[in-house]
Amino acid sequence: MELASIQPIIYLQTMKKLLLPLLLLLIIKASAQTPGQIHQKAILVDTHNDVISNELITKFDLAKRQPTGNFDLVRAKEGGLDVQVFSIWCGEEYGTGTAFKFANREIDSLYALIKRNPGKMVMVRNAAELEQAVAKKQFAAMIGVEGGHMIEDRMDYIDALAKRGMRYLTLTWNNSTSWATSARDETLHHDSLKHLGLTDYGKKIVRHLNDLGVMVDVSHVGEQTFYDVIATSTKPVIASHSCAYALDPVPRNMKDAQLKALAKNGGVVFVNFYSGFVDGTYGRKETEFLNVHKAELDSLTKIYHDGDLARIRLNTIHKVESDQIRPPLSMLIHHIDYIAKLIGVDHVGIGSDFDGAESYPLGMDDVTDYPKITEELLKLHYSEADIDKILGGNFIRVLKANTGK
Ligand SMILES: [Zn+2]
Repeated sequence: MELASIQPIIYLQTMKKLLLPLLLLLIIKASAQTPGQIHQKAILVDTHNDVISNELITKFDLAKRQPTGNFDLVRAKEGGLDVQVFSIWCGEEYGTGTAFKFANREIDSLYALIKRNPGKMVMVRNAAELEQAVAKKQFAAMIGVEGGHMIEDRMDYIDALAKRGMRYLTLTWNNSTSWATSARDETLHHDSLKHLGLTDYGKKIVRHLNDLGVMVDVSHVGEQTFYDVIATSTKPVIASHSCAYALDPVPRNMKDAQLKALAKNGGVVFVNFYSGFVDGTYGRKETEFLNVHKAELDSLTKIYHDGDLARIRLNTIHKVESDQIRPPLSMLIHHIDYIAKLIGVDHVGIGSDFDGAESYPLGMDDVTDYPKITEELLKLHYSEADIDKILGGNFIRVLKANTGK
């Protein structure tokens, strides 16, 4: 080799040594995503929101940004929300002759909202339709019926609701039905129960839901009902809005053994944001707060003709005080992390209960705040693939396992 040709080779090799790492660093930097990008890219599904039952009272147009409440379509987009399962709910004062009718009125109002927003919002009934809607950038709506009392003990009412789009039935709300006992009744009214857990008719209902591809929801049900469901259901079941009992021992939350049984069934628990289910000290603090403002709450209830809305208004009036008793966001994240570590990242998701409770952890004010969950999970070193599962992947899997497509 000639001396003259060695010089450029040395030069090239030195440049290579210097430039290659620099180039690699630039490529990594360009491909590294911000938490916001990871969040927006993921399919985000929230399995529980009560805004539709409120809408019948407030008459708010959810297509426009609202000054109050936790949800509207504008804010949902900002929060990266792709799919919302809307809860169809009425209180236990509704029963035979009224509950099914009321459920249908709420479903009418959801369809009316979709009709007012053609191309922007669509009803989906299975995973294939869900993924199609997300690909078209349409907001996907789904229906979950919260409370077995709305079927009024009739199989044909289950068929009718499924036909209108119901994709989960929460077997009980706080009140038991003649065929399933609730968490409240199994714990507080145990001695006066007429039956415990699922009756034979209740088991028949679970099997019928399995056949129809309607997910069985065990949030709100008692422990006996839960284990009877696990023994009966041929499909993975869900808890659409529940937290971990080990972190906040209220009857509505799920004990470790229940969480493990749910995972064994292939099911998913979607974590509830309500302060009372997240923080074990919230109940005591709330009682103190309400004692101080009792007279004011009574008069607000008279004005609003609705206890829940009056309670939310009381929080707004006394914002500093009510903020002081909210748990930190880290407590909510802890529930997700605790469940993921106990039963696996494939079995946890998000079911906010937005517009269904009066208090959420600090920083979790409405649907624009979902990206904070992704940020916090990244800080805990969750991978993008795992975050995708928690935000929506697990829901899509369990939906597919129930509907077959
Ligand atoms: Zn609920």
